[in-house]
Amino acid sequence: MDFNSSFLDGMVGVGDMILLDALSEDSLLQNLKERFKNDEIYTYIGNVVISVKPYKQLSIYTPEKIEEYRNSVLYQLKPHIYAVADEAYKSLRDRDRDQCILITGESGAGKTEASKLVMSYVAAVCGKGEEVNQVKEQLLQSNPVLEAFGNAKTIRNDNSSRFGKYMDIEFDFKGDPVGGVISNYLLEKSRVVKHVKGERNFHIFYQLLAGGGTELLGKLKLLPDCSKYVYLNKDPNSFSGMNDAENFRIVKDAMKIIGFQDTEVTSILEIAAVVLKLGNIEIQGQFQANGMASCYITNSQYVKEIGSLIGLDASTLENAFSVRTVEARQEKVVTTLNTSQATYARDALAKNMYDRLFSWLVQRINESIKVSEFQGKKVMGVLDIYGFEILEDNSFEQFIINYCNEKLQQIFIQMTLKEEQEEYTREGIEWTRISFFDNEIICNLIEDLGVKFKNHNHFKSKATQNDKRITDNTLSDISFRIEHYAGQVTYNTKGFLDKNNDLLFRDLSQAMWKAKHQLLKSLFPEGDPKNSSLKRPPTVGFQFKASVTTLMKNLYAKNPNYIRCLKPNSTKKPSLFDDQLVKTQVRYLGLLENVRVRRAGYAYRQVYSSFLERYKMLSRETWPRWGGDARAGVEALLNDPKVNIPKEELAYGRTKLFIRTPKTLFDLEELRRKKL
Ligand code: ADP
Ligand code: MG
Repeated sequence: MDFNSSFLDGMVGVGDMILLDALSEDSLLQNLKERFKNDEIYTYIGNVVISVKPYKQLSIYTPEKIEEYRNSVLYQLKPHIYAVADEAYKSLRDRDRDQCILITGESGAGKTEASKLVMSYVAAVCGKGEEVNQVKEQLLQSNPVLEAFGNAKTIRNDNSSRFGKYMDIEFDFKGDPVGGVISNYLLEKSRVVKHVKGERNFHIFYQLLAGGGTELLGKLKLLPDCSKYVYLNKDPNSFSGMNDAENFRIVKDAMKIIGFQDTEVTSILEIAAVVLKLGNIEIQGQFQANGMASCYITNSQYVKEIGSLIGLDASTLENAFSVRTVEARQEKVVTTLNTSQATYARDALAKNMYDRLFSWLVQRINESIKVSEFQGKKVMGVLDIYGFEILEDNSFEQFIINYCNEKLQQIFIQMTLKEEQEEYTREGIEWTRISFFDNEIICNLIEDLGVKFKNHNHFKSKATQNDKRITDNTLSDISFRIEHYAGQVTYNTKGFLDKNNDLLFRDLSQAMWKAKHQLLKSLFPEGDPKNSSLKRPPTVGFQFKASVTTLMKNLYAKNPNYIRCLKPNSTKKPSLFDDQLVKTQVRYLGLLENVRVRRAGYAYRQVYSSFLERYKMLSRETWPRWGGDARAGVEALLNDPKVNIPKEELAYGRTKLFIRTPKTLFDLEELRRKKL
């Protein structure tokens, strides 16, 4: 990607970090800060755009803005997410290159908003016409549906995505959208049964209760009152400003546009109702005559209601909550569950049911938006995924999320270097390999750990043997430490294995499979007696690794465009730039490394004719007009002793001039300024 010359004019700070004179973490931060204070929230690193969330509405997303960016050459205008969207779209349409847009950043930094800005920009600039518009509508309407089921209010973000999302938008040869495919990654299903104070469960539950209306709620036997449901947040303050009832209407409309049948919508909401009712099942302990601990359900009302919603007799369900059948060497052993086991089983069922419903929803949306095989398809993938996390207490979830980010960092470095290398080859410029921190070793190590470990000790000993990047003896027995590219993280292995195994007692999946409710039944295929010989499902870590591997392959085949989102402060103040907070994020995103990789060989490059146009006044040779070939003109200009640029700073490619360091460019700018 090249700078248009006028990009250098009238900037607050530098619009592209590649042009930073003395590169350091401080100068990078300083530049972001200066720009942020002037409402310049976007800054480039080459074709990477950094976005610093403004905490206020800026008037930079209007239809007029879209027109501006659509009609301009990139870098003639201020840095903007639209410029990146435009560059990606035009490259797809005119140069036949599949694109991917990778959006990363911590929770609440603006990733999902960014993905929507990209989607709406592309929707605005691509073809019109009834059929195309219908496809666009369906693609855009997948957002409110997935957000209702996959987003929740958290302390950091009122509309926080609790799953990772990758969406391929498919285009025909004219560049008109024809369909799409969505992949989802690891929903935070523990939220179904538990969330911290001040947060909420997934939006859909509150939306259903607030907006369902008497008739629907009557059918589902639900009360329009969150405080009646154990799994829901009871603090009314946390509902203010959420517009749950209104959003419910939006979600139902969106489902209709995507093509859901009314009966499907009802089935989905029935399952949501079942989840709520599961949470209300109370389990009490008792002792049997033989002194064994067992338990019983004190409020059979909910079991009956669930039974009637899913078409299953209450006794089957009740039984599945009180015993566990284990098969050992063709022998079935039935044990009774104690209170905590039964409670675990109940929550596991609720979590799994909701998680599977969510994945089913994604597949169902895909059925509507996918395109049948056709030739000449071009693809733009948009990845909106959780950023690197270091919490007080880092558990399995952080391990998984950070692994994913480690892979993304790896692919970033590989792709950027590859791209640089290809450009140098295209331009016929000699390329010397430059070494960077290669995190492949860490990726391999994590994969090895996460997939194979059997117990805590095994995990720890493997970690210790494997690499010096891990562990030290000061750690407690149940923790281990990994030195990620973004910093050291100590993980607590308590609960790791349970989360990784994600065990759902077979009695429950078998009971669910017996239900008459077709959708619910289909979510528990392992409950089918025909499948009883199936091996245990793969662990969560194993599945995640497999889906990340597929994702990486997919991304690697495309031309990457990056959007890096930063949060300026955690107190939601409009113009506060918290240096320390931003610094941490800059590290987590590996931005300094990003700039270094971008400047690896030559920081700046420009096609000869544009370069000549901007600097021709520096030499008598080229001023006021150069008659010949542009490259010869640039050589004549730069060879002029008055200009005096050291030879080793320059390389002449087939179509472009390359300049090694930003200082040289600034020297040229300074000369130019004096002449003006
Ligand atoms: P993430 O997906 O990274 O967790 P979101 O995209 O959901 O974060 O953003 C959180 C909130 O921040 C949004 O609901 C919106 O109110 C606000 N926000 C995000 N991006 C912008 C922006 N460019 N301008 C103004 N507000 C924004
Ligand atoms: Mg999000």
